[in-house]
Amino acid sequence: MRIGFFGGTFDPPHVGHLLVASDAYEVLGLDRLVFLPNAQQPLKAGQAVTPPEVRLAMVQALVEGEARFEVDPLEVERGGTSYTVDTLRTLSARYPADERFLLLGADVGRTFPQWREPRAIATLAQLALMRRRDEDGELDDARLVGALTDVTGRDVPPPIVVRTRRVDVSSTEIRERVRTGRSIRGFVPDAVARFIAERGLYHMRQS
Ligand code: ATP
Repeated sequence: MRIGFFGGTFDPPHVGHLLVASDAYEVLGLDRLVFLPNAQQPLKAGQAVTPPEVRLAMVQALVEGEARFEVDPLEVERGGTSYTVDTLRTLSARYPADERFLLLGADVGRTFPQWREPRAIATLAQLALMRRRDEDGELDDARLVGALTDVTGRDVPPPIVVRTRRVDVSSTEIRERVRTGRSIRGFVPDAVARFIAERGLYHMRQS
């Protein structure tokens, strides 16, 4: 089986995550795509985020009724700082015979050198860089892949680039809209919007 892993903070999860997951699912020919909400993102330490259990419940609401996608609570249950390498060690023991893909937003290209054990990460799963279709960016694909292979080493499989559509929405914008009393209809599935409203999330938080 071909399994994709899609990690993030998902505070909150939104239609950008869903559509980009759907594109990656199709381009990579996946059989399953697993969302992995983190407990604490190492590079966002100190930033206020919604409690992990609440973000996990929102990701469950995001993929509700969607046969292609599922949610794995492993990082939330493990707690503490969520290092991708630890998660992939667990997942590769759980799915030893499957083809594993780690889906990474192209913005990760900038931070990947700071991740714990990048070389091990690249041996535990095939890195799949999701680049938005119109993203000419500062770096072309070859340079981005080159920059990552400088970090992982050249004897492991290089990252592959997956073209995804541009969806101009971010969790930051959604939090800001809620805080300023604007509608988030269409930015998140209705089940997620209901959850946010019922819990009164994001009313007080600056970005
Ligand atoms: P924030 O605005 O709080 O930084 P975010 O919307 O980027 O959050 P994350 O939880 O950080 O959400 O995203 C998880 C992954 O999804 C990241 O790899 C990010 O690149 C990707 N992603 C987020 N929004 C989009 C989008 N609109 N299109 C494509 N990829 C996205």
